Amino acid sequence: MVAKVGAEVHTVHVGQKVVLAPGVTCGKCPACLSGNDNLCRDFTNLGFMLDGGCAEYVRCPDVNCMPYPENLDWTQAAAVPLVFQTAWHMLVHRAQLQPGETVLVLAAGSGVGSAAIQIAKFFGAHVIATAGTDEKLEKAKQIGADEVIHHGVMPIAKEVRSLTQNHGVDVVFEHVGTATWDDSVKSLAIGGRLVTCGATTGYDGKIDLRFLFTRQLSILGSYMGNKGELRTVLKLVAQGRLKPIVDKVWPLHDCIAAHNYLEHHKQFGKVVLSVP
Ligand SMILES: [Zn+2]
Repeated sequence: MVAKVGAEVHTVHVGQKVVLAPGVTCGKCPACLSGNDNLCRDFTNLGFMLDGGCAEYVRCPDVNCMPYPENLDWTQAAAVPLVFQTAWHMLVHRAQLQPGETVLVLAAGSGVGSAAIQIAKFFGAHVIATAGTDEKLEKAKQIGADEVIHHGVMPIAKEVRSLTQNHGVDVVFEHVGTATWDDSVKSLAIGGRLVTCGATTGYDGKIDLRFLFTRQLSILGSYMGNKGELRTVLKLVAQGRLKPIVDKVWPLHDCIAAHNYLEHHKQFGKVVLSVP
């Protein structure tokens, strides 16, 4: 809810419900002007080098105020922007996902993982998702995963080969990093694309260059998404075609407990902090 606006702000008004785009950019450079604002050299996020949303009030540019999806309550709406925007940019813009392709989504219980499963299904892909508990695998199926892999029971790449008649997958949705990197690369089909937005378990990853060029693989980096993509995602959320997954809501003063919960990988979807 907008509490106060600057003297020159005319696009939003006090009392208006908005969803905030997390990315803050210069708004003037060639990247920003071409709509690729997540390529802006000044790109940062609310909460990174700037005060963020872990507070009762947050200050941001008016251009970051997005239409509020009225079918959602506050906690659900808070769970949308960063993960859906990121997963959309990875699958749609970077990996150019096509209907009928097979996608491997790592860590289905993460925020981006739970968003990626839904977006891949929205585009008519076949989704294989991984997680470390039976409970998370069941939830992954409930939100659309066609097949699941328990990464603690079976090596991911071996299981992917078995599920795809040894073809591998067209797209790997990576964000885990060192722990899964080898399996992710080995899971790719000829001509496959690996797209990554994170390195939660470490940033070292090797690749056999012979494997890279003979199989004509693509390794794609991705970071956040642009504001236009967030608007698209919010429209689909308002239509009920994509759904934010809220695992737990903690009051702001229990912020430390919420972080501990995340650090122990207990969540499926997003953990949200609420203010009274
Ligand atoms: Zn810029």
